[in-house]
Amino acid sequence: MTPTPLHEPTIDEDAVLRPTHLDVDLDALAGNVEAIQARVGPAVQVMPVLKANAYGHGLVPVARLCQRLGVPWLGLAYLEEGIRLRRAGVTTPILVMGGILGSQLPLFLEHDLTLTASSVDKLQAIEACAAALGRPARVHLKIDTGMERIGVHWYSAEPLLRASLGLRHVQVQGIFSHLANADAVDLSHARLQLERFQEVLDFYPRHGLPTPIRHLANSGAVLQLPETWLDLVRPGLLTYGVMPSEEIPPMAGVRPALTWSSRVVYFKVVAPHSPVSYGSTWAPDRQTRMVTVPVGYGDGYMRAMSGRAQVLIGGRRHPVVGRICMDQVMVDIGQDSAWNGDRVLLLGRDGDQEITVEELAGWAGTVPWEVLTNINTRVPRVYRSARFPDLATDGPP
Ligand SMILES: *Cc1c(COP(=O)(O)O)cnc(C)c1O
Repeated sequence: MTPTPLHEPTIDEDAVLRPTHLDVDLDALAGNVEAIQARVGPAVQVMPVLKANAYGHGLVPVARLCQRLGVPWLGLAYLEEGIRLRRAGVTTPILVMGGILGSQLPLFLEHDLTLTASSVDKLQAIEACAAALGRPARVHLKIDTGMERIGVHWYSAEPLLRASLGLRHVQVQGIFSHLANADAVDLSHARLQLERFQEVLDFYPRHGLPTPIRHLANSGAVLQLPETWLDLVRPGLLTYGVMPSEEIPPMAGVRPALTWSSRVVYFKVVAPHSPVSYGSTWAPDRQTRMVTVPVGYGDGYMRAMSGRAQVLIGGRRHPVVGRICMDQVMVDIGQDSAWNGDRVLLLGRDGDQEITVEELAGWAGTVPWEVLTNINTRVPRVYRSARFPDLATDGPP
C-alpha cells in the first residue's frame, strides 16, 4: 500500500484538468538559495526553511531541489513534514524546529530527524528514548532570547547546556534562538536578542568546550543583520524570493517563483445597480461586463481581499468585485473584452505587469507569509525548470 501523502501536490493530471494552477519556477528558487549563500559567504551555512508545504511551493519538490543543490540542512516545523520528506527519499539533514511531544520521540529517531531540545526534561526524554531504541539522537538546543515561544530563557539556560554535555546517546549538533523583530526598521530588540544569545554561548569557551553550530538569523536578519549570521542562517520567506517588509529594499539576485493563474469560465453583461455575490455588497452604477473565474477562498484566494483584489487579464488590471466566494470570483472588466478560456493572472508577472505576494498581503490585511502558506493543496502545482529538467512536471504550457 502506498502511504497517504500528507501535503503532496495534486497529481499532474489535475493540473491539466483544473484551469487554476500554480507554476513554480524551480530555477528561481535555485537562484535564490545561491544568492543567499553568496550573500552570507562561504563560512556560513544556509538552511532553507521548508515548513508549511515549503511556504506553499510544495514540500517534496522543493526539498528535492535543495538536495540537488547540496544544501547542508533543511528546516521544518513539524515531525510529519520530516517523515514525509524521508518517505520521499530526501536524505539531507533535517532540523525540526517546533515543540515536541514525548510520544513522538521514536518517530524522530526512526526517521533520522534532528530534534529541537527546549528543556532539560525533553533532553532527558530524548536520551532515554535513544538509549532504549539503540539509535543516536541528534539535537539542537533552543534558547529563548525574547520571543516567549519555545526554548529555555536565556537567563536560565545554563542547566540545559550542562545537561547536554554528559549524554551518551544524544549528540548536540547545534544551538539556536529565534528573532521576533528582524524585519523591523528598529533593530534594537533584535540586537538585544543577539546579545542575550551571545551571553549563553559564552558558556562553551568559558569551559573550554567546542561550540555547537550557532544559529539565529531568519530572512529579516539575513537582509539586515550580518552580525546575527553566526554559523548558519535559516531563511524562509527570502528563499521564495519574497521580502519580509516594504521597508526593506529588495535583495539583488532573489526573485519570486510563483505564478498563480486561472482562466475565464463565464462572461456576462451586468445591468446597472445589480448586486454581485453574497451579501450584495457591491453593484455597478452603469452597465458593465463581468467574467467569472474558478478560484476562491477555498483555494487560499483570501476572502479578506474582497473589494480590494485585482487580477490581470490580457495584460490589464481589473478589480475583483463583490465578495470572494469559496470557488469563484467575479471580475469587472468594464468595456474590455474577454472570452471563455482567456488567462487570468492572480499572482506573478505577465510582460511588464506584475501582481506580487506583498500586494496580495496588503489587500488581505496580512503578511506575505500567510498569503503563501494559504495557497491550498487543492491548487495543482506545476514545476518548471530548465536547469533540472528531471525535477520538472507536466502541466499546461
Ligand atoms: C519560520 C522560521 C524561520 C524562517 O522565517 P522567515 O521569516 O520566513 O525567514 C526561521 N527559524 C524558525 C525557528 C522559524 O520558525
